Amino acid sequence: MDAEITVIGAGVIGLAIAEKVSGSTANVFTIEKHSAFGQETSSRNSEVIHAGLYYPQGSLKARFCVEGKNLLYEYCRKYEIPFDICGKLIVATTKEQIKVIEGIRQTAIDNGVNDLIIMEKEEVAEMEPNIFALKALYSPSTGIVDTHSLMKRFEINTLNNGGQIVYRSEVTGIKKINSGYEIKLYDADAKEYSFTTRIIINSAGLTSDKISEMVGMRDRNLRILFCKGEYFRLKPPKNRLVSRLVYPVPFHNLEGIGIHVTIDMGGGVKLGPDVTYLESNDYDYRVSHGKQEAFYLSARKYLPFLRFEDLAPDMAGIRPKIQQPGEPLKDFYIKEESNRGFPGFVNLIGIESPGLTASIAIAGYINNLIS
Ligand SMILES: Cc1cc2nc3c(=O)[nH]c(=O)nc-3n(C[C@H](O)[C@H](O)[C@H](O)COP(=O)(O)OP(=O)(O)OC[C@H]3O[C@@H](n4cnc5c(N)ncnc54)[C@H](O)[C@@H]3O)c2cc1C
Repeated sequence: MDAEITVIGAGVIGLAIAEKVSGSTANVFTIEKHSAFGQETSSRNSEVIHAGLYYPQGSLKARFCVEGKNLLYEYCRKYEIPFDICGKLIVATTKEQIKVIEGIRQTAIDNGVNDLIIMEKEEVAEMEPNIFALKALYSPSTGIVDTHSLMKRFEINTLNNGGQIVYRSEVTGIKKINSGYEIKLYDADAKEYSFTTRIIINSAGLTSDKISEMVGMRDRNLRILFCKGEYFRLKPPKNRLVSRLVYPVPFHNLEGIGIHVTIDMGGGVKLGPDVTYLESNDYDYRVSHGKQEAFYLSARKYLPFLRFEDLAPDMAGIRPKIQQPGEPLKDFYIKEESNRGFPGFVNLIGIESPGLTASIAIAGYINNLIS
């Protein structure tokens, strides 16, 4: 075999896994079609380190989010990656929503998150004088991270471990062979070549379903739908009126968690992301000016100072959803596929939020799975 382990995709998940497995195994290759890491979903998200408040008990999302948050904070401290445990408020702006936030608190407790505080209107006003809430749930351990620095560190550690990261190479075919797989690639000059590997880790994000299909695993339940999330930025000086993450009460099936206020490490404030399933799986990162009114009306419920003209289009990301519109929440799909006849082939499909938070926990899990 040319390689022992091949990781497909250098997003935050592939890089975290590459770092972990190259620490104990020689001949680890990461293959990435772009010329640098993190060019897709991993650089188009809210950069929030979630606390694991919403996900159903026993789900991989809940488990890896709660484990991942602590591992990520530890990692950031160790490698001096910029992060801020700024805290998050989930705000109820109607009487009905008060019941919902009490339910979220219970789900969080079931998931082992015990640091949440219910806050009355006056307490919220004291903490964040510029927002409106009848009641709120405060998560003191939610934070933000500089995702680029995190991925850069994963890359450096992988290379220091002796792992190789091959950019500008797109996986176009996979064949099962004796005790492993043959991977076909196109490089930057559109030259085709192939190599063999004992283990494949499919962390190809938005096209991870296609990678799985290449080897012959077709599964309607794992077909990825592109689900776009757009952001608008809050123009200065109003960005200084909020100092924590502020979330509305989430939708009942967690298709998204509502247009929220995200702060970044540079002091910028964004509103978003919204939830739009795209009709076809196109990489459409445009932000539509036409949505400004909807963002304004949605956020104004808890940001009374907001005026329409305070917003400007910012950026968009695309969620790799295996949850159809209107369906109940679907969990991450993470499996070693021996049961389907593909030993040593590990699929990670539908790694949407909280994938960034969960990255180091997922990497540890994959390392155990393959060893
Ligand atoms: C709008 C939005 C907001 C989010 N907010 C948060 C948040 O606040 N907190 C949080 O924890 N999570 C958040 N997430 C989720 C998080 O961003 C993702 O879970 C995470 O980035 C997924 O990483 P990944 O490595 O699986 O995918 P990606 O970053 O998409 O990486 C996959 C890589 O595979 C490569 N690739 C694909 N096909 C091939 C091929 N054939 N050959 C070679 N390379 C290939 C791609 O080029 C890409 O670089 C958010 C997601 C979105 C969309």
